[in-house]
Amino acid sequence: MQLSSLLQQFNEPETLKMAKLGRELRAQGIDITDLSLGEPDFDTPDHIKAAAKLAIDQNYSHYTPVAGYMDLREAVCQKLKRDNNLDYLPTQIIVSTGAKQSIANTVLAIVDKGDEVIIPTPYWVTYSEIVRLAGGVVNLVQTSLETGFKITPPQLESAITPKTKLFMFSSPCNPTGAVYTKDELAALVAVFEKHPDIYIMSDEIYEFINFDGKHESIAQFESVKDRVIIINGLSKGYAMTGWRLGYLAASPEVAKACDKLQGQFTSATCSITQRAGIAALTGTLEPTYAMVQKFKERREKVMELLKEIPGIFCNEPPGAFYVFPDVSSYFGKTTPEGEQINTADELAMYLLNTAHVSVVTGKAFGEPKCIRMSFAISTENIIKGFGKIKNALAGLK
Ligand code: PLP
Repeated sequence: MQLSSLLQQFNEPETLKMAKLGRELRAQGIDITDLSLGEPDFDTPDHIKAAAKLAIDQNYSHYTPVAGYMDLREAVCQKLKRDNNLDYLPTQIIVSTGAKQSIANTVLAIVDKGDEVIIPTPYWVTYSEIVRLAGGVVNLVQTSLETGFKITPPQLESAITPKTKLFMFSSPCNPTGAVYTKDELAALVAVFEKHPDIYIMSDEIYEFINFDGKHESIAQFESVKDRVIIINGLSKGYAMTGWRLGYLAASPEVAKACDKLQGQFTSATCSITQRAGIAALTGTLEPTYAMVQKFKERREKVMELLKEIPGIFCNEPPGAFYVFPDVSSYFGKTTPEGEQINTADELAMYLLNTAHVSVVTGKAFGEPKCIRMSFAISTENIIKGFGKIKNALAGLK
């Protein structure tokens, strides 16, 4: 008996793997502080939950259109106008089972075997794996702490080849928190204008979790708008990770292709979730703003605590809820048990087993000098987790 060769082309998400290992240790009674997960620790706002309860009572229990209820797609269009000043028709919106599915739809709709896909690195774990699954060739472009982990126009220009089909990025970025300004996007657009056959996937799922500036979408530039695929969803901004609601906005042609794909994979996301989604998209953003304010306070705390740990280098993240420090100064050091730590993977395992703190290796995001730590947990746990990390690192000689 043999499983498919397709499976060998991609890895299990490292983020989920660390969470699983953490859960296993917790089941043994060990007190694990989880800095590995990428989801708000807040509850879904009440007005959204109320809409879901009503939807159950109103018997929204049947299959929905593959692309989502029409009034939900209209609500997405209104949101894109309200928050991003972008004009889309409901037929250009495909609602899915989370942004992750929208990303998969996009890649499978666009990428053919052998097509190249440019991904600025560090990048969110799933991008490269979906490209591989589609038979595409991943072209990673390394950015650095010095440039705020953002790709520069010359870097983009020199990565493009006649085979380049797609560019995938997130702003705000997971794992670095990098946020592209309007000027930085305009400079990238100037490069794309010279290459009219490249699609651009703009993952904006952390749109609201932006601490210092205003969110800018690359779709605002008319010269490229028809080849931009905006990815967004309710998981992060509305604390709705478990509800599974994502969407994409694209040209009618790409939207139709994604609709066709999704029709074979999942049909559509849950009907109740969709009704709740309308309440989220059209309702008050006050709970979102309150949550973001909390993340901002925690970011300050985390930066303060990181400064107390020698040999760790880190930008203050302008968005999302992660810090992504360079920890390579610890490579080559030895644990009290006599084992040498040579990689971010080994450091992450050391922190899990010794400090009982779960973090994610930067290797999973294409940057093996760093680790990712989430501050989507209470300030109390942040203090506890970073304290344990400080002590464990001090134990390395
Ligand atoms: N895009 C990025 C950059 C993410 O960090 C995540 C989740 O961690 C997603 C997409 C997927 O979100 P969803 O829960 O909507 O599938």
